[in-house]
Amino acid sequence: MSSPCLLSRARHLGALRRSFTSPNAISPIAAAHASYRARHYSLPALAADEDLNTVASPQSIKDRVQAKIAAIDQERPFSNVLTDNFSRQHTYLRISLTEKCNLRCTLTPEITDRGEPTVRKDINDLVAQLGELQPMGLKTIAMTSNGIALKRKLPSLVASGMNLLNLSLDTLDRFKFELMTRRKGFERVMETIDDALALGMSPVKVNCVVMRGTNDKEVLDFVEFTRNKKVDIRFIEYMPFGGNKWKENKLVPYQELISNIQAVHPTFKKLIDDPNDTSKAYHVPGFAGQVGFITSMSDHFCGTCNRLRITADGNLKVCLFGNTEVSLRDMIRQGKTDEELREVIEMAVKNKKKQHAGVSNLVNMKNRPMILIGG
Ligand code: SF4
Repeated sequence: MSSPCLLSRARHLGALRRSFTSPNAISPIAAAHASYRARHYSLPALAADEDLNTVASPQSIKDRVQAKIAAIDQERPFSNVLTDNFSRQHTYLRISLTEKCNLRCTLTPEITDRGEPTVRKDINDLVAQLGELQPMGLKTIAMTSNGIALKRKLPSLVASGMNLLNLSLDTLDRFKFELMTRRKGFERVMETIDDALALGMSPVKVNCVVMRGTNDKEVLDFVEFTRNKKVDIRFIEYMPFGGNKWKENKLVPYQELISNIQAVHPTFKKLIDDPNDTSKAYHVPGFAGQVGFITSMSDHFCGTCNRLRITADGNLKVCLFGNTEVSLRDMIRQGKTDEELREVIEMAVKNKKKQHAGVSNLVNMKNRPMILIGG
C-alpha cells in the first residue's frame, strides 16, 4: 500500500490542474479551475478591465464579462486528459487509503464493509500534505469515516485542512449498531457528528445504505435526526458488489422512501441540486438539516459523473461499477515519467463507459468488494 507515495506523486502531477488529492473522498481539478476563474475572471476583476469599464449598462457589462469568460475558457480549456468521450470533466477524486477497518461487520458485511482511513497512523500528515494544495486552489478535502475513532483526531484534521466529512452510519439504534458492527461506539459516532458541526463543518454528511429488512424502518428516524442538526442524511440505494450477498429484494428504490417520508411529512420537498451532485436533495421545511437520495440503481446519474477513484492498492478506477483498472502504483514504482502517467490516465478516462451496465448485468459482473474500492 503506498498512499503517501501516491499522494506526493499526485502533487507532482500538478500539470493536471492539481488534480489528485483527498483521502477517502473528494477533491478537484474543477475546484482549482473554479477558484482560478473566481480569482482571475470574477465580475469585479473583469469589470476592472479598461475595456469593460467603458460599458455603461449592467446587463451589457454582464454580457461582455460572459463573452470574455467564454473566450478565456476557450484559451484555457479544462484538462483534456480528464475529459472523457462524453464530455464529462472529472473534477473529483476519491483515494482509498486502506483496506483495513476497525469495525467487524460480520453480521452485515454487505452494507458497512469499507476501509476506514482513521486506522492510518499518518492520517493527519496525509491530510496536511493535501492541505498544502489549498493555496493552489484545492477547495475541498473530505474524508469518509465510520466515526468510531475520529472524535479525538477531528480537531487536528480540521486544522490541517479537512473541510468536509462523510460519516457512514446505517442505524440510529445503538443496540442494532452493536449487532451490525460487533463494536460498541455508537455514542462516539454521535459525539463526532456534534463535534464536526461545532468545528464549523456544514453540513456534515451522513451516509446510510438502506436495505429492506435491515434498516428501512429507520428512515423516518433519520429524517427526524435532521430536525435540529444541520446534517445531510444521504440514503444510498443498496448496490451489488463483490461479496456483498446482493439480493434484489433488499433494494429499496428511493421513490418508495420518498412516499414513506411524505406520508408523515407532507411538506417534504425537493431542493435544487448542484450539477455534479450525486444525491437528490430534499428537506422538511423548518428542519435544520436535509435529506438526499443516492439513486445509483433506480435512476443512475452517470451522465453527470465527475468521479475517479484510486483504490487502496493504487489502481485508477474510472467507474465504480467498471472492472477495468490500471495500476498507477506499479507505474510509479517502475519510474514512469509524468508524461507517461498522464497518457495512461487519459486513456483510462477516455475508455470510461457512458453509464453502468444496469442492475441485472452488474449482479453477474466481476467487481471488487467495496472494502477494496473505498466508496
Ligand atoms: S456508475 Fe460509473 S459512470 Fe455511473 S455515476 Fe457511478 S462511477 Fe460514474
